[in-house]
Amino acid sequence: MNVYDSSRIADMLQNLGYEEAASVNQADLVIFNTCHIREKAAEKVFSDLGRLYNLKQERLAQTGQDMIIGLAGCVVQAEDEQIAKRAPYVDFATGPLTYYRIPELLAKIERQRGISLIDTDFPAIDKFDYLPDNHAHGGCSYLAIQEGCNNFCTYCVVPYTRGAEFSRPVEAVIAEAKRLVADGTLEINLLGQNVNSYHGEDAAGHERDLAYLLRRLSEIDGLERLRYTTSYPADVNEDLIACHRDLPKLMPYLHLPVQSGSDRILKAMNRRHNRDDYMRIIDKLKDANPNIGLSSDFIVGFPGETDQDFQATLDMVNYVKYIQAFSFKYSRRPGTPAAVYENQVEEKVKKERLEILQNLLFSYQLRFNKDSIGKTMPVLFDMKGRHKGQLIGRTPYMQNLHAELGKEYLNKIVSVKITEANTNSLSGIAEGL
Ligand code: SAH
Ligand code: SF4
Repeated sequence: MNVYDSSRIADMLQNLGYEEAASVNQADLVIFNTCHIREKAAEKVFSDLGRLYNLKQERLAQTGQDMIIGLAGCVVQAEDEQIAKRAPYVDFATGPLTYYRIPELLAKIERQRGISLIDTDFPAIDKFDYLPDNHAHGGCSYLAIQEGCNNFCTYCVVPYTRGAEFSRPVEAVIAEAKRLVADGTLEINLLGQNVNSYHGEDAAGHERDLAYLLRRLSEIDGLERLRYTTSYPADVNEDLIACHRDLPKLMPYLHLPVQSGSDRILKAMNRRHNRDDYMRIIDKLKDANPNIGLSSDFIVGFPGETDQDFQATLDMVNYVKYIQAFSFKYSRRPGTPAAVYENQVEEKVKKERLEILQNLLFSYQLRFNKDSIGKTMPVLFDMKGRHKGQLIGRTPYMQNLHAELGKEYLNKIVSVKITEANTNSLSGIAEGL
């Protein structure tokens, strides 16, 4: 979501006549788009800001040119007082729902230099109405269809930083998708904190779900691939599962975070699913499409997590055999209920559990990647490789793949025979060109 927000901010700035600078030293304006989900991410903002401020002063001394420093994202929403205290030199700061106002903030700064502006309202308007059209930057595009969250998992800041759940209207999404496809997009990844809780209104004012939207989108000529992320297990309905059987454009890959395999912990996390509910959904998805690959997020060391609870998480991994995953040590976030639970788990234990979990997850990821060797897959190439004559693309399973290919194949789907695999990437040879 932050990558998406950053690219929308860049689009907005381009409309104002800004161009991308070759390096930070040459930038007249630097905007940090920040994440507050874990302490480490939030703290990094302040150290990066300090470094940037030094750079700004060096540049001013050497060239006489000033630099505007802006902050965007969830750290602004959650820590506006801290920003004023720890980084008073920030020229403006705007939350994740208000960044459409950046042009206005910049205009003000240009008028009255030196004034800090912090703007973190939860406006009662749809920011998407105020942003410029989302343009494709290549073969893969993000399309935000839903934002915010009403779930209030006890560890999570998102409901506080991104606000209440909101779904964009169906026709606005379809129109944006058509525009992206006309611009050359082949793959659309529908975005939302809980994308499958989508309930946007159609033209007749009826609420429609994600399955309806996927069916409508898959009718768009020229659109080859659809994905959606991130999903909340309790909101996976039968019709969404059926989409994985019925829609060839829907990629056989789903990120469905479980967080923990222990019912006791899931309850303490205030997740609306238990272990069995989750396993039932996985079974149904595999029935609908036996080739589906799953990924998940995990938190280890949530307050009160015992060895037995942790073992239940490992059991879940062994059951689902995730092909990719993100796993984190529980991080106490100020203002969330779990932050003040008394039974916090020791850092040492969290570290040990994370290592055990990640080793297990990586072993399944590696096994899946190795099993890909010898198969031929359609790969969408959307990046240049580090070496000349090399492109990087994504398989249907979101595996990164390198191949020797000329740049005329950038933003195209090419059949590739997989020849090599390691934990994080594949190599292959293009076929039938
Ligand atoms: N809406 C998605 C997740 C969005 S946050 C869902 O419910 O699945 C992305 C991930 O960050 C979460 O899935 C979780 O694993 C992790 N996360 C969120 N808060 C955290 C915290 N306090 N400590 C550690 N990890 C956290
Ligand atoms: Fe956070 Fe996801 Fe829970 Fe919402 S559903 S509170 S975004 S973890």
